[in-house]
Amino acid sequence: MKDQPYLNTSPKVSDEIRKTTCYMCACRCGINVHMKEGKVAYIEGNRDHPVNKGVLCAKGSAGIMQVNAPSRLNAPLKRVGPRGSGQFEEISWGEALDIAAGWLKPIRDENPEKLAFFTGRDQSQSFTSFWAQNFGTPNYAAHGGFCSVNMAAAGIYTMGGAFWEFGQPDWDQTKLFMLFGVAEDHDSNPIKMGLGKLKERGAKVIGVNPIRTGYNAVADEWVGITPGTDGLFILSLIHELLKAGRIDLHYLSQYTNAPVLLDAETGLLMRDENGKELVIDRSTKKPASFDQKGVKPDLNGSRRIGGTTHRTVFHAMIERYLDPQYAPEAVAKDVGIPAGKIRAIANELARVAFDEAIELDQEWTDFRGETHAKMTGRPVSFHAMRGISAHSNGFQTCRALHILQIILGSVEAPGGFRFKPPYPKPATIHPKPHCKTTPGAPLDGPH
Ligand code: SF4
Repeated sequence: MKDQPYLNTSPKVSDEIRKTTCYMCACRCGINVHMKEGKVAYIEGNRDHPVNKGVLCAKGSAGIMQVNAPSRLNAPLKRVGPRGSGQFEEISWGEALDIAAGWLKPIRDENPEKLAFFTGRDQSQSFTSFWAQNFGTPNYAAHGGFCSVNMAAAGIYTMGGAFWEFGQPDWDQTKLFMLFGVAEDHDSNPIKMGLGKLKERGAKVIGVNPIRTGYNAVADEWVGITPGTDGLFILSLIHELLKAGRIDLHYLSQYTNAPVLLDAETGLLMRDENGKELVIDRSTKKPASFDQKGVKPDLNGSRRIGGTTHRTVFHAMIERYLDPQYAPEAVAKDVGIPAGKIRAIANELARVAFDEAIELDQEWTDFRGETHAKMTGRPVSFHAMRGISAHSNGFQTCRALHILQIILGSVEAPGGFRFKPPYPKPATIHPKPHCKTTPGAPLDGPH
């Protein structure tokens, strides 16, 4: 035995481990980056990180190529042959910057907004937007504009945040999960881990997608929708739920702006002298500010001023979404889903939300400062991504999906969608874009 050669079966693969987060997508999974002789040797998931608990997706492990790929540019290259010939020569940074300045300076001096500036995935967007603002053009964007920005913007406007980095379904308690237009590289690890939990508990997953691959292949039910028609399908679900009265009236009245009065002439929310939204209190039948302690907002409230009757947001929603154009029979052909199936999904959402409601013995205090002994949960939840947002109607489609969650009372409720701090945030808290352009000068503020 003494003569046997020593075989190290666990050689040290790195001399240093750096803990950081992956940004191959916006999940920011925790990763351990193994360094050997100052170079990235490999990447593994960090088991102690709350987002991914050690899981690393294929895209995340390919992050090593961001620094090690042989094809990565190390210096500026100038094309020296015809376009497409692949003939380049290496030039200095000074020469590259002179060439770029030669293109850009005349535009900036004349009218900087003539420059449209587009960058790829937005890891360094703080720098690229800083550059564009200082160049003086508001016409800049990054990858997200062709991807999930509609989802984020629609969510912020509708309920103060959206899916993915804003929060996630209550994986431990949801009983019915509906997924719209989600590719496997989007929100990859959290969704896979969440689906694993649902499968273990026997919760139902419905996948809505034109093709049945990835997440849709493991869904209990697949709904093969016509691309770009998700909004119409969702509005039809809303139509059915409203028609059947299967909506959470208490939730809408107490915790949303559905009971706020709309100015019949401008369509804007009516406000009191302090700028607070106005509702009609069911107890006093009088106008009151929405967030007043003890107020019981009336979803059917109205106020008559100078011959004009002003009604609630809820009233406007009923008028709009009960329109027969959203009936399952009216949309079935366009969305490619039989009317009976649309009706069945609406029924199932309502059945799980209301007939299988959760009640937690958990005291909580609402935003009016009123304390409640129990917490009611609607165990239906949703997730959606690029497949529905990257269409010309994406913003409105995403808004419709957020409205669907809200009328079911499943936002910020056990079993539904749960925000992560600092969300939800009111839309008004986000900075207003600055668009004033001046020749030879930066924008008049952040855009
Ligand atoms: S899901 Fe994958 S790509 Fe996204 S942050 Fe996590 S490891 Fe990286």
